[in-house]
Amino acid sequence: MTQLTALTITEALKLLRARQLSALELTNAYLERIERLNPQVQAYLTVTADVARQQAQAADQARANGADDPLLGIPLAIKDVLSTRDVETTCGSKILKGYQPLFDATSVNRLKQAGGIVLGKANCDEFAMGSSTENSAYTTTRNPWNLERVPGGSSGGSAAAVSAGLAAGALGTDTGGSIRQPGAFCALAALKPSYGRVSRYGLVAFGSSLDCAGPLARTVEDAARLLQAIAGHDPLDSTSMNLPVPDYVAGLTGEVKGLRIGVPEQYFIDGMQAEIEGAVRAALSHLEGMGATLVPISLPHTEYSLPVYYIIAPAEASTNLARYDGIRFGPKIDKGDMWPTYKATRGQGFGAEVKRRIMLGTYALSAGYYDAYYGKAQAVRTLIKQDFDQAFAQVDVIIAPTTPSTAFRIGDNTSDPLKMYLEDVFTLPASLAGICGLNVPCGFDQQGLPIGMQILGKAFSEEVVLRVGHAYEQSTAWHQRQPALG
Ligand code: GLN
Repeated sequence: MTQLTALTITEALKLLRARQLSALELTNAYLERIERLNPQVQAYLTVTADVARQQAQAADQARANGADDPLLGIPLAIKDVLSTRDVETTCGSKILKGYQPLFDATSVNRLKQAGGIVLGKANCDEFAMGSSTENSAYTTTRNPWNLERVPGGSSGGSAAAVSAGLAAGALGTDTGGSIRQPGAFCALAALKPSYGRVSRYGLVAFGSSLDCAGPLARTVEDAARLLQAIAGHDPLDSTSMNLPVPDYVAGLTGEVKGLRIGVPEQYFIDGMQAEIEGAVRAALSHLEGMGATLVPISLPHTEYSLPVYYIIAPAEASTNLARYDGIRFGPKIDKGDMWPTYKATRGQGFGAEVKRRIMLGTYALSAGYYDAYYGKAQAVRTLIKQDFDQAFAQVDVIIAPTTPSTAFRIGDNTSDPLKMYLEDVFTLPASLAGICGLNVPCGFDQQGLPIGMQILGKAFSEEVVLRVGHAYEQSTAWHQRQPALG
């Protein structure tokens, strides 16, 4: 049998159902590998080995009693911005060190309801602000394909965990690309659902109008299974939509005949890595060969996404992060009086990037500047969304590169925040428009680093992007490569 930790969720479920594998064996295989490789990869901040074993035993017991929940016995990693009951949830920040939520995020709760086993909490950029996990206050996660490189971010721990065989699948969050970009850097199927498809309850807020929880997995089918478990209306989140959830796995027909794929000219730009353009164009021809039609399209406001996002996301962050004051959550640096206590706690608790965003956001929202910055950014956000509305009147999906470069070296972008922000240039528009996007691997560069393309679909059309991703994946072998780790 293949190494247990190399199985896809779909393969593991088959063996579990056939009683050829127990959830405890599978969980122990992951825990053993985490013990061996996490010191190098640094994917996890917290490993909940004992609870995971208990959950695994309960899963085996339930199966023996006839249960067959959709993820029964599957070991998973959870990004540390998602609240987990009684398990430390730091958001990669010192300001939440030691904080143990009293409840599970709805997405986590639903994974558990579906039988999933939580192996631990995955590293991320502090409050999900970043593109490399270098902004984590605790550690920098390594890219399993090359340990000198970043895994992407902010869900870099989740991506590295799945890619290194330290979890069968993971949850991440995407505010401006944080699921898709690490998915691209680590060769994973990684889905940012439409805004409102998955509950944000218990997802520690960064940009409330942008944040989405979603799956990272080895195959599109696995991602579909994870999405199936977490999608749907939640009375605890008034922005989650009350819409039916389709059967995502049943929708994976392998067919793209007659499908219209939009190719946006603005996503093939000067300065991007030539191998990425080459790989994405080759994937497009491949899909054309399978019967899809390529339609050149224009998304004219694309270039404004970066400035618009870096007004709106920091503005929302500045208000969301006001609650961390040392009184309600996490450690307090007591200076006797209220203001000095706030100042010392926030001054020492937040890292440089978070402070930068709080300042930017507070400035953009301040009296006299609100209309010029925040108001203007919201107006342009609407134009970006309308670009997509117009495009989706002509095409079923849009395919574009996920990132302008493959995984960069640790330390390469840390001294220049603008350079780091540029990493998000292709992922931000879909986030601002609230639509869904799936990264799938579509090649490797000369250094052996993964290349990803994103399949974008209109809001609540996850079924379609998954179908296209799956059809592509089934007829290519990129997703079968695995990094050479011990
Ligand atoms: N890299 C972007 C940022 O730093 C997106 C982060 C995210 O999606 N959480 O804000």
